[in-house]
Amino acid sequence: MSAVVIDGAAIAEELRTRVDEELHVLRLSEVRPGLGTVLAGEDPGALAYERHVRRLAEGLEYHYVHEHLPADVEVADVLATIGKLNADPRVTGVLVLRPLPSHLPEADVNAIVDPRKDIEGQHPENAGLLALGRPRFVPSTPASCFYLLDSYVRSIGEDPHAYYTGKTIVVVGRSASVGKPAQWLGLERDATVIACHSRTAAAGRLGEFTRMADVLIVAAGVRGLVTGDMVREGVIAVDVGFHVLKDEVTGRTTMVGDLDFDEVAAKAAAITPVPGGVGPVTDVWLIGNSLVAAALAARIEPRFGTDG
Ligand code: NAP
Repeated sequence: MSAVVIDGAAIAEELRTRVDEELHVLRLSEVRPGLGTVLAGEDPGALAYERHVRRLAEGLEYHYVHEHLPADVEVADVLATIGKLNADPRVTGVLVLRPLPSHLPEADVNAIVDPRKDIEGQHPENAGLLALGRPRFVPSTPASCFYLLDSYVRSIGEDPHAYYTGKTIVVVGRSASVGKPAQWLGLERDATVIACHSRTAAAGRLGEFTRMADVLIVAAGVRGLVTGDMVREGVIAVDVGFHVLKDEVTGRTTMVGDLDFDEVAAKAAAITPVPGGVGPVTDVWLIGNSLVAAALAARIEPRFGTDG
């Protein structure tokens, strides 16, 4: 079988058109979204992502505030900085960049962000709403996985509202930002959801479960974790993993995911590539979430959500 390679860049463009329309509607109501980012330390990935988010925000003429804190910042100072952004009416959405230095407690940081400005949906209130099937903000990476899946399902003439019923979705990874919300989104679509994690692998049972997948979402952060013998013919595979490899001789970098792309593509009906799969849609979804936050601040019913 030769897999359809799901074109994340093209699907992101299409979503971007819808997001731009939503922004236009908000502007007609004189709503001006604002974004506040908080970064602690000097992690190169977080620094690069902040520059990326800043470009996105400035391109959309958002009010943009960035707080860069030292790596050894006290917990109280981080919480106070987020509190300042919470209190700023020009900042309608707040994004805390990861990874945080290890001494900062994720749970406390997530819980201090105003839940109505929490565009990554990490506040316990927003996680709870999503788990209960009443999302306010759907975290952008798992939302993108399903946006790509739904787009592929439509392309084969199926209805995404019915397609997953009776199907088995296997999610590898159970992080609060990707794995768990992906599981909840799968349950909301009436799929049978199997959640795998590092202990599944340690017990030697990962392949046993991944081979059951009609839809496989892999967000483990382990390069090439899922190989061809671990999937069934006709699987739809979504690769969330993102790894940058540098050739020591040429200095050139390449990006790969958690799937062994060639092996899985040889058996899959469809597969997302790395790069050009989940990543581009994630970016646009984050903008969509920032519009939800701006609408909430203006007491307007947000239109962007689970179905994009
Ligand atoms: P994370 O917080 O490190 O979580 C990784 C999860 O994978 C954990 O639940 C862990 O299990 C599980 N895991 C680790 N090793 C495993 C193994 N050998 N077998 C099965 N499960 C295993 O990572 P994350 O933030 O969810 O991100 C996952 C990956 O996605 C990373 O590569 C990250 O760079 C990428 N990512 C991409 C995007 C994008 O837009 N493309 C966005 C976010 C993240 P335990 O819970 O037992 O530890």
